[in-house]
Amino acid sequence: MKRIVVAAAVMCVAGGWMACSKPVEQTPTVQSAAAPDIDGNAVLRHVKVLASDEYEGRAPGTKGEDLTVAYIADQFGKAGVKPGNTDGTYMQKVPLVGITPDPNVTMTFVKGAKKTTLKFKDDFVAWTKRVAAPGRMKFGDVTVEGDTTKASETVGINGSEMVFVGYGVQAPEFNWDDYKGMDLKGKTLVMLVGDPPVPDPKDPTRLDPNTFGGSAMTYYGRWTYKYEMGAKFGADAVLIVHETGPAGYPFSVVQGKVNEQFDLIAPDNNMSRVAIEGWIPLEQAQALCKMGGLDYDKLKQQALTREFKPVPLGVKAAITLHNKVRTIDSRNVVGKIEGSDPVLKNEYVIYTAHWDHFGIGTPVNGDRIYHGARDNATGIGGMIEIGRAFAKLSPAPKRSILLLAVTSEEQGLLGSQYYATTPIYPLAKTLAVINMDALNVWGKTKDITVVGLGASDLDDYAKQIAGEQGRVINPDPKPENGGYYRSDHFPFAKQGVPAINSNGGIDYVGKPAGWGREKSDAFTANDYHKPSDIIRPDWDMSGTAQDLQYYWMMGYRVAQAAKFPQWKAGNEFRATREAQLKAAGKGTN
Ligand SMILES: [Zn+2]
Repeated sequence: MKRIVVAAAVMCVAGGWMACSKPVEQTPTVQSAAAPDIDGNAVLRHVKVLASDEYEGRAPGTKGEDLTVAYIADQFGKAGVKPGNTDGTYMQKVPLVGITPDPNVTMTFVKGAKKTTLKFKDDFVAWTKRVAAPGRMKFGDVTVEGDTTKASETVGINGSEMVFVGYGVQAPEFNWDDYKGMDLKGKTLVMLVGDPPVPDPKDPTRLDPNTFGGSAMTYYGRWTYKYEMGAKFGADAVLIVHETGPAGYPFSVVQGKVNEQFDLIAPDNNMSRVAIEGWIPLEQAQALCKMGGLDYDKLKQQALTREFKPVPLGVKAAITLHNKVRTIDSRNVVGKIEGSDPVLKNEYVIYTAHWDHFGIGTPVNGDRIYHGARDNATGIGGMIEIGRAFAKLSPAPKRSILLLAVTSEEQGLLGSQYYATTPIYPLAKTLAVINMDALNVWGKTKDITVVGLGASDLDDYAKQIAGEQGRVINPDPKPENGGYYRSDHFPFAKQGVPAINSNGGIDYVGKPAGWGREKSDAFTANDYHKPSDIIRPDWDMSGTAQDLQYYWMMGYRVAQAAKFPQWKAGNEFRATREAQLKAAGKGTN
């Protein structure tokens, strides 16, 4: 009887979410029929192992990685979760490169007889992600030489014309194009950071909520996007102008990039990336514009309109970079619960959680091991228990469930980016990605936060399931920080797959108002990305279990639904998804 009720609810989801939210509310038995028992203390037992000294803070390419990926695969097996890779293993190899720029370089700006020399780190920061070019290759004005066996790379540009391209944004859904078809091959592009802060025509004291995200950051504002656009137009270099306000952090954070950076190695050895990626501080941008006989503030003002066109600065740039390069073979761990429907089992719902943390580093209060108990041993423990609950279910969900424990999130979402660009199963057959990063460990809550709320139909699932748990959904309290772009769901979103990241709640059952905010702020201030992110005596895993039921229900319902979840109208990833499904011969319905 209960099963039939579940089936009815699932059909209801398929038929249209909003239309049927009332009938589901009237049948609370739906929830108890489908929500599995998930043991929060089982999660705690996994965290005890993963965050122990022996695991050395789980850095990629270390003994900590070997122990961690072996533990996850072993636990998947014990939970009844099958190997998720097509080669019959639990592992997906992720080739990474570690790049350290040589600081003894300068960049010069030249106009006629005038020449400015910029000092590395003080006046600019730049690197190249191009690696492993055997021998010497030439790309227009760019030369690349080197060989990873020699662990060194040299990339240079000389006499590259500099062009100011405003915010460097091309966003058809907002009728915005900063490039206007100009040929930018071999040029050095100077771009502003962030989304264009377009004032609201009705109220100039605030930002236009209908152009980009208003005060919330969209992907067009992220610096990774700016370098991608340079590559798209065949530019030689992209220099982003750093301004503390719009960037949200000081130039010292950018200067941190002179240490070793990890990245993925694409099959083309990253040769399709722009040769030189870098930043200049505001004062250098102002001086550069002045050298070209232009005014920085005026250019910036022009960049706020749809009429903006790229402005050649009349200045040429030259720089030669030397990198030290090393390669690392890391791993994503992949588990699978095969779907029960003979056709639909070839479609997937993916759970992501990163297994990595910072390893052994600078001691804080005498501890050198960055344990990462909450971030993200909890997410991995939760993933194992979600897998156990799915594996117990008979019959299994119609579609297959993939558990993807990814590497190198802390190095820039690299493991998830690798899967999203080198998927084991087609993304057009992947319905959704549900991410778990740093679970709630302080007890049950009356709410749950959905980062980037309103992005896709998954948020409607979230609202419904939370409602059945007697909880409400809250949006991210700080959307201007671009939280949606900072965990493992994002690389999937960027490739078009609807993806959701929820962050526990802050309104705790039986606690006064403000208690949860205090707990969360104290964690951020004292323990976040520090060795002291350890298991604490005040941990209460009942809230972890509550959230895992929510995550489980979401995956289950999406796996059963008649319809693929979609991005909402106006979302920046919607066009990519539609094109992907169309190419795969699948309509959006
Ligand atoms: Zn994390």
